[in-house]
Amino acid sequence: MAGSSFAPFSMVATTDLYTDFGRRNRIGAPNARTAAPAPGVAVGDAVGARGAAAVAAPAGEVLLRARGLAKSFRGLRALDGVDVDIRAGEIVGLLGPNGSGKSTFINVISGHFAPSGGELTLDGASIVRLPAHRIARAGVARTYQIPRPFAHLTVLENVAVTAAFGRCARSRPDALAEAMRWLRFTGLADKADASPDALNLHQRKFLELARALAAGPRLVLLDEVLCGLTPAEMDEAVALVRRIRDQGPAVLIVEHVMRAVTALADRVIVFNEGVLLAQGSAADVMRDPAVVTAYLGRGAHA
Ligand code: ADP
Ligand code: MG
Repeated sequence: MAGSSFAPFSMVATTDLYTDFGRRNRIGAPNARTAAPAPGVAVGDAVGARGAAAVAAPAGEVLLRARGLAKSFRGLRALDGVDVDIRAGEIVGLLGPNGSGKSTFINVISGHFAPSGGELTLDGASIVRLPAHRIARAGVARTYQIPRPFAHLTVLENVAVTAAFGRCARSRPDALAEAMRWLRFTGLADKADASPDALNLHQRKFLELARALAAGPRLVLLDEVLCGLTPAEMDEAVALVRRIRDQGPAVLIVEHVMRAVTALADRVIVFNEGVLLAQGSAADVMRDPAVVTAYLGRGAHA
């Protein structure tokens, strides 16, 4: 990809519809259980598919495998039997209208919520019944849609907490040194002694990233980490996410801004009403009539 900006968005004919399209509500969306995946978007067969503008990643072994994953909240099926694989070394973009289950998927993978059904394995071992701290230790780190730093700790201490209790347990001095490394990586080193309250939104998002990375993850789950950034900040964040993958972890990124998804994701998966609606390259998925209908309602293709 050339320069510091995003690659040209190649799907202009349809894509104005999609810029920030997840912000639309899903009134008029079809029942996902009856929506067939579009021809050419092979559910369960997207490995190796690449977003047109994405940097190619080596297709590694399956790291995370979800099969029939379900999560209900008092009868509401937020996840309704999801089958997804995430392979080592890839960046997977997770799209879907508001309320389609994206954050719930992250919350279930990270052990925030126990699933109501289905199977979830990391490197072939079930993580379904593990509490969040054990899943973090196993190598899964996540950010929150709304940054949640500890307000009474400094920026450095916030990162040191996850460095101390992440994949490898560390002494306090080691955790602080590791935390400093990730503050440098995210460009926040000069804020080490500041309170998180003193950070602007951009910096708070990057603090979330530093906290996730300091845990030494093999899989990083990013929930709308680019949301609210200016275009220039977003360019910087996209470059940073690429550098995260270059360090080793696979990345699952929930993101509404399509130019960012297109620039980043090797592969895109789309949820609708808790169901996996489509997966494949960003270009293919965005042309998928079932995806267009899910976002825009049944009249979209009339
Ligand atoms: P997304 O991140 O795709 O916008 P969510 O995963 O947050 O969607 O939500 C999926 C559905 O589950 C929504 O209908 C939401 O209201 C519901 N939901 C999510 N979390 C909870 C919760 N803790 N309690 C009750 N309902 C929830
Ligand atoms: Mg969400």
